[in-house]
Amino acid sequence: MADLTKRAWFSKSAQQHKKKPAIRPPFSGDENTFLAKCTQCNACVTACPTQVIELGADGYPQLNFQKSECDYCQVCVTQCQPQALSKNNPQQIQFIPVINQTCLTEQDIYCRSCAENCEPMAIQFSYQNGAIAKPEINLDECTSCGACAAPCPVEAIQFNPLSYQLNHQAVR
Ligand code: SF4
Ligand code: SF4
Ligand code: SF4
Repeated sequence: MADLTKRAWFSKSAQQHKKKPAIRPPFSGDENTFLAKCTQCNACVTACPTQVIELGADGYPQLNFQKSECDYCQVCVTQCQPQALSKNNPQQIQFIPVINQTCLTEQDIYCRSCAENCEPMAIQFSYQNGAIAKPEINLDECTSCGACAAPCPVEAIQFNPLSYQLNHQAVR
């Protein structure tokens, strides 16, 4: 007899994984190649000076922008012996920030925490008559460092895969 409970769990787990793909460290390149090469040795996790890398539920390293940020110091790539992180891959983290509707400015509450922590000043505020200015992210300036996420008091900044975003053009 089929194990429906287990099947339901795998189905739910697969959906959750689909909804929230892991943010891999810089220089990780293609996801399948990264997973094939990474030995889960933990070297990048322990070496990262900002402690933004942690082991995900899948046992592979991922970035937690609610905890810290990436300053692209390259320590992780130099520590990765199997070259799952490799300078042959693009440096850029393959995710981009999106501000959702829980942003305090949507309720006319003044807040600038994200912009104050964005070093390249990629977050600007558009002024509107009689309303609180709302943040907008200039993706040409954004480095995907994640520094804006943790300071946001309502966790309004989420990160979408670059490929998903290019197909859905929903950035504010
Ligand atoms: S580049 Fe530096 S800060 Fe970014 S994940 Fe790697 S070790 Fe951490
Ligand atoms: S992820 Fe982009 S918008 Fe956020 S702090 Fe970094 S550069 Fe600025
Ligand atoms: S820190 Fe969060 S709540 Fe504040 S303006 Fe930025 S996205 Fe909105």
